[in-house]
Amino acid sequence: MKQSDSFEHCGICEEEKAKGIHLYTTFICTECEYNMIHTEPREEKYNYYLQKLKNINQPKLYS
Ligand SMILES: [Zn+2]
Repeated sequence: MKQSDSFEHCGICEEEKAKGIHLYTTFICTECEYNMIHTEPREEKYNYYLQKLKNINQPKLYS
């Protein structure tokens, strides 16, 4: 088992963080959430986040 603190693995920075949000099945820490919101599309980081989010956001088709 891991430490008893409720740390979760952030899907963006790949670190264990205590605070964050859940996007679908993936946990995103508050720092990454903040960074994403404050990153402009022309910044290199933006693409990084986009790629990460693409992996997360794979909506299933309701048939
Ligand atoms: Zn993170």
